[in-house]
Amino acid sequence: MHRAVVVILDGLRRDFVGPARTPRLAAFAADAASFPAFRTAFPSATRAVSASFATGCHPARHTLQGNAVALLENGTLVPHDVGRPDFLAHKRAITGHALAVPTLAERLVPSGGAIIFNNVSPGAANAHDPDAHGHLYHRVISRGPGGAPVPQPLRVTLDAAGDRAMTERFIAEALPRRPALAVLWLGEPDHIQHETPLGSPEHLAVLREADRNAGAVIDAVARQRAEGDDVLLLIGSDHGHETVSGAVDVEAELIAAGLKAGAESTDVVALSNGTASLVYLHPDQENRRGRLEDFLRSQSWAGMVVPAAELGTIGQAPHHGLAFAVSLRADDAPNAYGVPGRALAAMPRWDKPVREGCGQHGGLARYEQSPVLMIEGPGFAGGTARAQAAHIVDLAPTILRHLAVPAANMDGQALQVA
Ligand SMILES: [Zn+2]
Repeated sequence: MHRAVVVILDGLRRDFVGPARTPRLAAFAADAASFPAFRTAFPSATRAVSASFATGCHPARHTLQGNAVALLENGTLVPHDVGRPDFLAHKRAITGHALAVPTLAERLVPSGGAIIFNNVSPGAANAHDPDAHGHLYHRVISRGPGGAPVPQPLRVTLDAAGDRAMTERFIAEALPRRPALAVLWLGEPDHIQHETPLGSPEHLAVLREADRNAGAVIDAVARQRAEGDDVLLLIGSDHGHETVSGAVDVEAELIAAGLKAGAESTDVVALSNGTASLVYLHPDQENRRGRLEDFLRSQSWAGMVVPAAELGTIGQAPHHGLAFAVSLRADDAPNAYGVPGRALAAMPRWDKPVREGCGQHGGLARYEQSPVLMIEGPGFAGGTARAQAAHIVDLAPTILRHLAVPAANMDGQALQVA
């Protein structure tokens, strides 16, 4: 029986994988192919990346532009927190679809189905299967196909203890049902990295717990293989982290420069995606585009400014008035624990306030764009490192190839070699 099992350790940086910090992952590398050039979507933010994982498409095509986005609603730019459990239903009502392309859960309905266990934000969990084709277990949302209630909703905390309880249920309940696709998306180490410095003892203790959870799934998959199942096992992360070197209130900067009318105005809306900002321009204010670009390009905090005409180069499109993507200034300087990579963060409207010295992500800097990918199974020689470019959008077609299900109309490419 051909199946795929995916374990995501949210926020794990590639350079944190090693025998001392993550012994189970380090050992797994001997049995799996590793991808040292693996990259994630822009923004490198969990909700948009989750949709790219689920659809095999960049945000330009699945249309979930970030963790915080604006939608043009009846001619008004309305800012939204995508993490809310009801956001994708709202987007469906406004735009006609939650995501503009099908998810793995939808594609796998006729061939074994999908079960997703997820301990990040409700909006990110929803992005895997917004139209309820498979089973989703999350501490806020648990449901079966068609939105039917499940007998035992997932009740866990967003921390290492919750991840551990979720992993135990995943192994006890999801794997024995032998779905075509089983996904375990842990909340750690992302959660602790937002609250403590990268490399701190608190961080490393939680990282060890996440590694233990991955190890428990590796062992469970080995038992199912011994029973005859042909399981493709993918273990990785959705993005890395940088250390926050300071905070920038992008909207306040735009107001001070005379480029936005006021804090509540909807002529220009800039939304924090951690170390990135998505800047939306209302269609009626087209004559402001050139001045906006000149301003953004002249700011020392704006590390990389991508205008609308070039959004395709980072997998985005100018939907809903998206005019500029900004990846805030970053460098390779180390933090107090010797962990390199720091970036400025944009002040959020809804998420927790910026925590200087702790971890963050969202942009295009080196370490937030250094997630982990290791794949074990047919087409992946154990103990090898593949130098090729690999991207989060490649995971869905790779999974479908293993399951012998067509992967038509995806941006990504299957990673198996003959
Ligand atoms: Zn994440």
